[in-house]
Amino acid sequence: MRIISCCKAVPEEQDIIVTKDRQLSLSRAEWKFGQYDLNAVEAGKQIIETVGGKLSGLVVGGSYLDNPKLKKDILSRGLDDLYLVMDEQTETDTYQTAAILKAAIMKMGDFDLILCGAGSSDLYAQETGNQLGELLGIPVVNAVNKITVQGEKAVVERMLENEIQVLEIPLPAVLSVTSEINTPRIAGMRDIIAARKKPLTQFTLAEIGLAAVEPSGRILSTLAPGQVDRRLDLLEGESDEVIDDFVKKLIAELK
Ligand SMILES: Cc1cc2nc3c(=O)[nH]c(=O)nc-3n(C[C@H](O)[C@H](O)[C@H](O)COP(=O)(O)OP(=O)(O)OC[C@H]3O[C@@H](n4cnc5c(N)ncnc54)[C@H](O)[C@@H]3O)c2cc1C
Repeated sequence: MRIISCCKAVPEEQDIIVTKDRQLSLSRAEWKFGQYDLNAVEAGKQIIETVGGKLSGLVVGGSYLDNPKLKKDILSRGLDDLYLVMDEQTETDTYQTAAILKAAIMKMGDFDLILCGAGSSDLYAQETGNQLGELLGIPVVNAVNKITVQGEKAVVERMLENEIQVLEIPLPAVLSVTSEINTPRIAGMRDIIAARKKPLTQFTLAEIGLAAVEPSGRILSTLAPGQVDRRLDLLEGESDEVIDDFVKKLIAELK
């Protein structure tokens, strides 16, 4: 069985600087893999450990991916090999990303299952997996909490608000897994050393047959939320007057 886990590199949250005009500066950010995408890698690894096969990672993004530490990190998490699509184009929307993932997957050859995280751990649109399934023309299911592969189909459990849904899906399919599906393994020293020797294939957009992908919409701005000045009214004491005063203030605020 061939499984492809899609992983997005995201900036380390604590390195993101909010400038005076509420822009987000990533100039000093270290890059890492999104926490939710590690669940997609772990889910793939557990299936391969049960039914056998190969687990590939697929990452698309800008020149920040040209980072040996980042590549070694994801390869040490249980992947057999890694595919990267790198392009100078700046940030893309989910539809463009899904279109690039689709073209890369077609170039990578046969596959049985594509796994995505619940959402990227920065923008968290939770759209890319669904759009990828639509573009590939294969079944796509999100909120997947358990996967059992049985020959050419998978039985999956979905965590809905008040119930657990069990579905039988023909393969190949795209499944977006929840963060509760597993606990991603921590790479040991042996995994980190082995990661150096694992195959890595890098494509440009042209090499996967794409000149450019038109966005589905235009991002007009991405700004940090405005700071709201909080007011603190501290009333001290337990007397009836203090309590009356407290109630009056609450009523005034609610009006
Ligand atoms: C050429 C290029 C340049 C980019 N440059 C930047 C940049 O400069 N800065 C920046 O922050 N982002 C950049 N990106 C990433 C891009 O903005 C996001 O991948 C895209 O908008 C997805 O939206 P989301 O994060 O809300 O994903 P969601 O829809 O929340 O993601 C759902 C799932 O889809 C999969 N997925 C999403 N994105 C990717 C990905 N890139 N690779 C593999 N799997 C993925 C993951 O499994 C993820 O859990 C770039 C992408 C491309 C293709």
